[in-house]
Formats: sequence, C-alpha cells, structure tokens
Amino acid sequence: SVPLSFFGGIGGASRLGILVKGSNYLEALSHVDTVVFDKTGTLTDGTFDVTAVHACDGFDADAVLETAAYAEAFSDHPIAASVKRAFAMPIDRNRIGEAAEESGHGVSATIDGRAVLVGNDRLMAAHGIACDACDLAGTVLNVAADGRLIGRIVIADTVKDDAAQAIRDLRAAGVERCVMLTGDRADVAQAVANQVGVDEVHAQLLPADKVEEVERIMDTARENLAFVGDGINDAPVLTRADVGIAMGAMGSDAAIEAADIVLMDDKPSNIACAIRIARKTMAIVW
Ligand code: ADP
Ligand code: MG
Repeated sequence: SVPLSFFGGIGGASRLGILVKGSNYLEALSHVDTVVFDKTGTLTDGTFDVTAVHACDGFDADAVLETAAYAEAFSDHPIAASVKRAFAMPIDRNRIGEAAEESGHGVSATIDGRAVLVGNDRLMAAHGIACDACDLAGTVLNVAADGRLIGRIVIADTVKDDAAQAIRDLRAAGVERCVMLTGDRADVAQAVANQVGVDEVHAQLLPADKVEEVERIMDTARENLAFVGDGINDAPVLTRADVGIAMGAMGSDAAIEAADIVLMDDKPSNIACAIRIARKTMAIVW
C-alpha cells in the first residue's frame, strides 16, 4: 500500500500545475542533484522572431521566405511556426509534394516540383549543398532550392523571464550541476547559457547525441539526473533520464507521453518547487 502522504505530495504539486505520474517519480525527484535542460522552448520561449531574410544574388527575399514557409508547412518545430508566422499568408497545400522533417537538421520538401531544403549547415552538408560560412548572429536557417543556396533566414529566440531565477532556485535547493544541451549553434547556445547561468553547455547535438551526453553525465552524477525538455526531438532523452520533466503547454503529445512529470505552465522555476515538494513528502513518509 502507498502511504497517504504520497497523495498529499502529488496533490500539492498538481495544485501548482506540476503533474507527477506516480509516487516513484516523487521519490526519484527528491534525490536529484543534476538538472539538464534542453534549450529551445525550455529555457527560451521557443517563439522565434524572424529578424532578417537575406537573398543570394539573383533571388529576392520574399521568395526566400515563401519557399521556407512552404517547406515548413507540416513541421511542428517552433522554428517552423515562426517562419510561417513571418510569411503571414495562407499556404496552398497543392503546391507541396513530399515533405519530411530531418530531426536536428531541418526539413526537406518538394515545392512546385523543386527540391527545397530549409535548415542548418549540417543539413546543407548532408545534401552536398555549397554554403559559405556566415557570420550572421542568431539561429540561421539556410534555404536551398534545386541544389543551390537561395538565401538565409535569421531568427532569434528570447530567454524565459524566470530562467535565471530557476537556476538560482535549483542551486539554493542543493542541485550541484545545471547543464544545457542544444542542437543549435555554439555561439547562440553560449549566449543563452551566459544569460541563465548554467554550469555547462553542449551545442550542435543531434537528438541521439543528447541521449549519449545524458548517459555520460548520469555516469558521473552521485544522485539522480532530471532532464527538462519540450519533447520536440527530445522524447528519447526524457525517457532515458532518471526523471523526465516535460513542458506541458508548449510541449508535444510525445513529450507528455515520455515524461514522468509535466509542468503545465512551462515555467522552469517550478522545477525547484517540485524538488522541494518531493523532499518534504519523502521526509513525511520515512
Ligand atoms: P534544440 O536542441 O534547441 O531544442 P532541435 O534539436 O529541435 O533544437 O533542433 C536543432 C537545430 O536543427 C535547430 O537549431 C535548427 O538549426 C535545426 N532544425 C530543427 N528543426 C528544424 C526545422 N523544422 N526547420 C529548420 N531548422 C530546423
Ligand atoms: Mg528542443
């Protein structure tokens, strides 16, 4: 039988919008000394703004944005949402042939019969598209059509209001190590890391690399590791961590499915709160 106070703990948490899927996760959470965050949608809002559209010679910026919005039509990634929002016109689905998400890279699609790619440098490299190094600041999407680069879209995400406080609260609660993982570029990652104050940052990771990195950190952690993500490309890490915490409001169904704990209001500051509730509950139980 489960002691009554377990329900008190889970119930107390749920009143704060922290949904715990079982009493075993409350116990695991009470022993967390390492918290690993995904960047996009977790420490940042994940609602990117398009800050610039650059066209290569012979192309115009409107066409670059339109091509990208069409290629992103079927993607759930927050980057896709921002490109479609910036385009701000209805999408005629008859113009789109095949469309596929390339996890951690971008998207590929056939638009008006042309092969279109939208994504990072790694996506361009994987498809053999020549692409000069660029010094644009921010998350950069390369847009290619029929095997050549036609332009670039620069997008910027903002750090959540309570992200830095969330890290301070975790330290105050005795968490020893706060780490950020991301598939984004190192310079963007470092800027976010500096703003929020995590101890470590690992950038340009593919979803499978995130799993490996979490396993490596788990090997050296004395106690439990919690991973916090939005589930877009990170459901495998949510499953692998000792405690998987998903952002529920923005997060995908896959995240809510894969997670042990769901934060309904997407506030990272609720993580320290959940740890405190878990410890208090365990203290009553034992
Ligand atoms: P994060 O680790 O920040 O949550 P992801 O693993 O979801 O990011 O994506 C890593 C990178 O892959 C992004 O920064 C972007 O460069 C590229 N990417 C992923 N999905 C898309 C998409 N739908 N459109 C364009 N680029 C994408
Ligand atoms: Mg992500």
